Amino acid sequence: MLVAPLLFIGCPKDDPPPRPRATVSTSSRPITPSPPIVTAFNGQRAMDHVKKQIEFGPRPPDTEQLAKTRAYITDQLKSYGLTVSLDEFTVTTPQGEKKMANIVAEVPGETRTLILITSHYDTKFYKDMQFVGANDPAASVGTLLEIGRVLGSRTEKPKVTYRLVFFDGEESFCEGWSDCGDEQNPDNTYGSRHYVSQLRARNELANTRAMILLDMMGYKNLELGRDSMSTRWLQDMIWRTGRELGHDKVFVDREEGVGGDDHEPFLRAGVEAVDLIQLTSYPHWHKADDTIDKVSAESMEIVGETILASLPKIAEYVIKNKPQESKPQKPQESQNE
Ligand SMILES: [Zn+2]
Repeated sequence: MLVAPLLFIGCPKDDPPPRPRATVSTSSRPITPSPPIVTAFNGQRAMDHVKKQIEFGPRPPDTEQLAKTRAYITDQLKSYGLTVSLDEFTVTTPQGEKKMANIVAEVPGETRTLILITSHYDTKFYKDMQFVGANDPAASVGTLLEIGRVLGSRTEKPKVTYRLVFFDGEESFCEGWSDCGDEQNPDNTYGSRHYVSQLRARNELANTRAMILLDMMGYKNLELGRDSMSTRWLQDMIWRTGRELGHDKVFVDREEGVGGDDHEPFLRAGVEAVDLIQLTSYPHWHKADDTIDKVSAESMEIVGETILASLPKIAEYVIKNKPQESKPQKPQESQNE
């Protein structure tokens, strides 16, 4: 449904020179198909996104700073040739009505089977603290953007459709995760809960076969334990892939106590989901010193390349273990290239 993503590829400043490839000609088509362009995940680019977000300042929901962040994320995604949409909504919070918006970018595949790769992009509200959230969530946002650039650069259609979703309002407005609200209306995960309701309303929930959540995975001393709430096969597949790539010190087997995150509403709705998070061994969590010196390009690259290497395996798995696929509401949308 898009123009070939090839047309949008720029030559980013920090990238190594591209490998030799067929030149793009507007006048004639090459006789032999050119191989897919190999764009590698670039941790330095992810780092640039972290820097940019921090420059906007603290970024709680319904602030000018978050609006600027949203515009930045949206512009970046569009520049990678992805289709971007906003999922806007208004919610009642302990601080009154707040306008929020999830950002959704799509990489169309051969089927409407959906795999979501996600992060929240709001920072936690503090009245008296300059909280810029370098690891929570600027690093996961930067990583997700860079994953988007790599996926957008590919000329071959993936077997499944990938969606990158940037959630608004993950953080609680009150100090503690469950200080306010109740089970029906918790004071957290506003964006992910809304997005699940949107998937349900569009009859896309059954097609959503895996949800990968990145949250606080940019620490320079990165070590990702296993969140006990996550779907085991999905976690195993990513952990195995990470270790195969040589990152066995990062993808470790200790249990990670998380106690709730944006994957939870998906799990409750029957979507298999995994959270990549370093919470208990990140000493700067929700502190003023969650600053850029705590995150590293290398950590973001480890997670980014592991996710990118895992995606085809996850796609193969969900295709093989397929429940009945429900029809999208506008079938004509997926017909053309
Ligand atoms: Zn947080």
